[in-house]
Amino acid sequence: MLEELIRSWDGEEVVVRFDEPTGTWMFVCIHSTARGPAGGGMRMKVYAEPGEALGDAMRLASAMTLKMAAVDMPFGGGKAVLAVPELFDGEARRGLLLRYADLVASLRGTFNTGPDVNTSAADMDVIGERCGYVFCRSEENGGSGNPGPHTARGVFHGIRASVRHVFGTDSLEGRSVLVQGLGNVGAPLAAELAAAGARVLASDVVPDRAAGTDFVPAEEVIGTECEVYAPCALGGTLNAETIPRLRCRIVAGSANNQLAEPEDAERLRAAGILYAPDFVINAGGVLNSLGAEHLGWTREQIEERLAAIGDTLAEIYARADAADMTTEAAAEQLAVARLA
Ligand code: NAD
Repeated sequence: MLEELIRSWDGEEVVVRFDEPTGTWMFVCIHSTARGPAGGGMRMKVYAEPGEALGDAMRLASAMTLKMAAVDMPFGGGKAVLAVPELFDGEARRGLLLRYADLVASLRGTFNTGPDVNTSAADMDVIGERCGYVFCRSEENGGSGNPGPHTARGVFHGIRASVRHVFGTDSLEGRSVLVQGLGNVGAPLAAELAAAGARVLASDVVPDRAAGTDFVPAEEVIGTECEVYAPCALGGTLNAETIPRLRCRIVAGSANNQLAEPEDAERLRAAGILYAPDFVINAGGVLNSLGAEHLGWTREQIEERLAAIGDTLAEIYARADAADMTTEAAAEQLAVARLA
């Protein structure tokens, strides 16, 4: 299965290592370096078999190529997956991270690694002990820290651009926005929306996180009337079953892989709902961390680039309208044009 996957992939390079001490398969997938060295997170996860992990790494690496190009970063797309037999901590985790760091260092900068599912700034600090091709280390260790608030800021600009496209003005005063998931991204996003005068509805499976907000139980998010639905928890919330039940005009949030299948983009368009492609609107974290840590951008330059996420979305919406296509297709077209 590994051989079949590798042969069928349209990416540039797949690096496979079996880590004997922990029984972990390491996969580094470099999809494209056409616009610069590849950048992407490293996910640590238990899989039923290594092929699933490699498939995940390949799919996520391709998505990173589109994301980097869509927001005009001089980086390509890559992703790493460590398929662990269990989620290690202590010395076992540290040893594994250091050996992964050696693997990334051996690629001499073709791939830069950041955090993803089950990995954190603390893990990036450990990797940084042995390898410079890392981002999102902690601020104490010279990194840019938690990307969540910067992702939130990009989403905020994206929501404004979406509101402008649908309602003709980008004022959020009195607009109802339902934020699903009040974690690293959702919590600062909700605060920023409220400060801009929006009526924030919020939902979290941990109800304490939504304390003090207009609370929506998790199972009622789909079907709750609002102007903007901002998925900031998990992927796949837009599908054949949920789309007909949505009662919003706009979907614009940070979650990765919001569309359960490609056809959902057309389902949203047919329902008259404007969809902000996730790989564009949620790029703020990557802009901040790679911008600050690898490109030497100042705070001011980063803020400009976060605001430009709104401009990019406005361009995507205009292209989609002009060509009578989905916003997802227009976003992919924009990214592919920048790759050419
Ligand atoms: P997080 O784990 O900090 O927060 C997620 C929150 O969602 C948690 O509070 C959790 O309790 C809640 N939640 C889980 N299931 C829920 C449900 N069914 N209904 C309501 N709430 C639910 O994660 P995060 O870092 O804030 O990321 C949120 C999403 O955005 C993820 O899909 C992530 O992949 C994506 N994303 C995050 C970043 C970033 O900078 N953190 C960047 C790009 C994309």
